[in-house]
Amino acid sequence: ASVFENVAAAPADVIFALTADYKADTFADKVNLGIGAYRTEEGKPWVLPVVRKANQILVDDGTLDHEYLPILGLDTFRKAAINLILGADSAAIADGRAGSAQCISGTGAVYAGAYFLSKHYPNKNVACYISKPTWANHRAIFEGVGIPVHEYPYWNPATKGLDLDGMLQTMQDAPNGSIFLLHPCAHNPTGVDPTPEQWEKIADAMKAKGHFAFFDTAYQGFASGSLDKDAYSVRYFAKRGFEMFIAQSFSKNFGLYSERAGNLTIVAKSPEVKNRIESQIAKAQRANISNPPAYGARIVSLVLNDGTLYKEWEDNLTTMSDRIKLMRQELVDELTRLGTPGTWNHITDQIGMFSFTGLNVTQSKALKEKYHIYLTENGRISMAGLNTKNVKYVAKAVHEVVT
Ligand code: PMP
Repeated sequence: ASVFENVAAAPADVIFALTADYKADTFADKVNLGIGAYRTEEGKPWVLPVVRKANQILVDDGTLDHEYLPILGLDTFRKAAINLILGADSAAIADGRAGSAQCISGTGAVYAGAYFLSKHYPNKNVACYISKPTWANHRAIFEGVGIPVHEYPYWNPATKGLDLDGMLQTMQDAPNGSIFLLHPCAHNPTGVDPTPEQWEKIADAMKAKGHFAFFDTAYQGFASGSLDKDAYSVRYFAKRGFEMFIAQSFSKNFGLYSERAGNLTIVAKSPEVKNRIESQIAKAQRANISNPPAYGARIVSLVLNDGTLYKEWEDNLTTMSDRIKLMRQELVDELTRLGTPGTWNHITDQIGMFSFTGLNVTQSKALKEKYHIYLTENGRISMAGLNTKNVKYVAKAVHEVVT
């Protein structure tokens, strides 16, 4: 018998399984609204023009030498990533209290931060509170490093908006010094973000209880189209003097999904503490991945550190966020035209890659099985999967499963 005779089969990942089902589907008008990856009006992946340009520069200048990066990654990338999220005028940067580790994209950054907390958080019984609902990997990562996970209310099905009271109540009730995982912008899966006034209340509640803020930002610049606006919450927390971790992904805003370009930004109370945190993360990273991949980080670094390329990147971001906003509008217009029962304005109110439609499990399954429209069973749709050619088909199918 095998040594592994008693190993049970793990369930397949829902999102990746959905993509495989979509690929296997031979229906001509199939639509993939599952995976959170940008698509053009033609339904194709988009290599950002600025990324193409940066790639050519790297090829031409001969710096792609395939040498190891340092354990904590590419210096110029790390500095630029910190600047991008905290803002160049950040006091934490000026004070030398902001540090980072380049990680295996956003996922790796969440993992590196969670792993550090599991080893070094002063309260060994600390729990991490995640929003209900959230990106499924949050629970998997924190439980994986042995930190218990609880949920705080976030989505209010009645208003199809934020349950701020529920969120604040949980912050008040949680033991002092708990960890709270927060989405700075373009909340996945709901597309619902707190307003600046609501962030103030959230910060007040977190401060009063000494909670630790762990931000996970995968959509900076992709949500509103403005890099500064999408960083508002993080910068506000920094101003309020929070120590915090910020996991940054460059998968969506650079379209570098497979290159695994990410960063864990650390804001500490002092440069000394920041250095010690970095040293511990470096120690863990050496055993885990030894050193991060270079290619994506080089592209990002080149663009973030060059004024002209940076401007061009901002234009590319606007192209993506504008197309998504347009699809939100067209979907709502079409549902309104059809007179589909229910209210749909939440689709245009929501922001970022996803819309939490409010469709239930039965309706979502029917869309897949009868109409070849692939979405997760919680009714989340990736807006980028829509285009002017399929939006009418999708709206009609939604109309039919709802009525
Ligand atoms: N956090 C959230 C909330 C996300 O939606 C994503 C992307 N789906 C990530 C992190 C990280 O993705 P990646 O590892 O590809 O950067």
